[in-house]
Amino acid sequence: MVISKVGLNRIRKSKLAGNNPQYIKGKDKFRTKEWLSKKYNNEGLSLQSISVIVGVSTSCIYKWMKKHRIDRRKFCGRRGNHCHLWKGGVRGGNGKYIYIYKPEHPRSCRRVVPQQVLVVEKIIGRYLSGDEIVHHINGIKDDNRPENLYLFSDDREHQRYHQSFRKGSIKPITKSNF
Ligand SMILES: [Zn+2]
Repeated sequence: MVISKVGLNRIRKSKLAGNNPQYIKGKDKFRTKEWLSKKYNNEGLSLQSISVIVGVSTSCIYKWMKKHRIDRRKFCGRRGNHCHLWKGGVRGGNGKYIYIYKPEHPRSCRRVVPQQVLVVEKIIGRYLSGDEIVHHINGIKDDNRPENLYLFSDDREHQRYHQSFRKGSIKPITKSNF
């Protein structure tokens, strides 16, 4: 079935679509418990994705599901890869620090560890101490290539470097030290 964009928007905006699912004609095959459950539970689609397929509002899908007593997913208490929202244990990126899911790691905070720490540890073959700081040479927080990382023994030394660099009294670090 092809629905034009205008038609789709009209359906989405229509109050009828949101409030009175029974008035939507030609949607019967989508309104069955089997179809909805298959999309939602088996294929793991969101209500929003389903609403786009059907061409109705999200709240409409929500009502159909409620009518069929299909339970909605909750933000579950499951950890890590037991959770359906699991993205492979990687958070961040896009210019922000990248965190990896490592609940058992000594540096783990809220069950994640900054990726740069793991990269350095893998190379030097030991855990970093609590004081050691990994600095990004080019300033890009999610560029965790080994050659872009520099290890400071503590944050004082790290801050001193940044201050001196700002004042221009020191040449920038350009090479990794491990
Ligand atoms: Zn730094």
